[in-house]
Amino acid sequence: MTRYVDLDAAATSSASVRVVQAVQDLLPWYSSVHRGAGAKSRYTSARYEEAREGVLRLVGADPRSHVAVFTRNTTEALNALAFRLDLRPDDVVVTTAVEHHANLLPWRRHARLRVVDVDSRGTFTPEQVVTALDRSPAPRVLAVSGASNVTGWVPDLAAIATAARERGVFVVVDAAQLAPHRPIDMTALGVDALALSGHKMYAPFGSGALVVPRHVLRHGEPLLAGGGAVRAVSFGDVVWADAPDRDEAGSPNVLGAVALAAAADELRSDWPGLLAHERVLTEALDAELSTVPGLRRYGPSSGDRLPVAAFNLEGVPHGLLAARLSAEYGIGVRSGCFCAHPYMARLLDLTEKQVERFHQDARAGRRQLPGAVRASANRATSIRDVIALGEALRA
Ligand code: PMP
Repeated sequence: MTRYVDLDAAATSSASVRVVQAVQDLLPWYSSVHRGAGAKSRYTSARYEEAREGVLRLVGADPRSHVAVFTRNTTEALNALAFRLDLRPDDVVVTTAVEHHANLLPWRRHARLRVVDVDSRGTFTPEQVVTALDRSPAPRVLAVSGASNVTGWVPDLAAIATAARERGVFVVVDAAQLAPHRPIDMTALGVDALALSGHKMYAPFGSGALVVPRHVLRHGEPLLAGGGAVRAVSFGDVVWADAPDRDEAGSPNVLGAVALAAAADELRSDWPGLLAHERVLTEALDAELSTVPGLRRYGPSSGDRLPVAAFNLEGVPHGLLAARLSAEYGIGVRSGCFCAHPYMARLLDLTEKQVERFHQDARAGRRQLPGAVRASANRATSIRDVIALGEALRA
């Protein structure tokens, strides 16, 4: 039996022992939150509210100004935020060509996008962002990824956020990839709002968070309307609750929130160890992939990067390569466009005509996008796993 080598951490990470324990501990005790008067309800409510604090601590948010709203994932968090920022169709949102669809499509729905483009290595400079911020009309929001899910590139968030802040632009960070790999200090960085997903940081699916200034949620209607989000309802009127309840209609995923907070505490407990281990993994990925004949790797080869690599092997379709790595070597990777079509189009150097043709094909129901294979590692990955990938690719 081949050993299973999980190199798909950027998609989803397995739950850690500590997270599993936190869920197991709560399973016999959980009950309804907030309105239940019984001991189990009060205990569950306390654990749920504590979990919010754990999320705020992880990302360095000030609990006096900010609140963590629990969502299903990053996608839901960014959709809720785009809905809540009261954007008008003519408002401009500055974003980048690096973004996952989750940080493009919600903004596109509510405002006009001004996109900071990338070079052939898939990176942009803080100066490019400044140029976009200074163009007229002045943007209202900057929505940027903390790290790319395709190339693992980590942009200079401090420089970008500072420039936006100085211009009074609201800074939103998609931290789905950054949160499991780097300590984040929203307050020091000057980041206004941030979204993350539990299932990418050692907690199960179905738990995510939007960390947002309380004032954003003070007025207006939430994305989801329903029970728990209100103070009073009649047929003619609704008095909405305060944050965060207003934006958490429906029975919440308490087990998910507690799991997410346990994962956050575990990350905070040993950043130096995690950073050192992942630095070695990143170097090992570089070394292994650089000795594979006919391999083309995408993304920058220096600067701050997560242990993530996107590549193609000459003459082998990406889907076939991923399938063979699994079937013949027990290595789990991912292939395709990684929900970042515009970024992949740049990395693959597709012409506008080619992109247009893929759109036509997609409209006709054919889905044959070009793409790449992605190998991604995390705290749970060993050097042996990365070497196994190199050996399989060379073979
Ligand atoms: N942003 C980035 C950078 C991601 O990598 C992902 C997940 N691939 C998302 C957003 C969306 O996360 P989710 O599917 O958990 O909503």
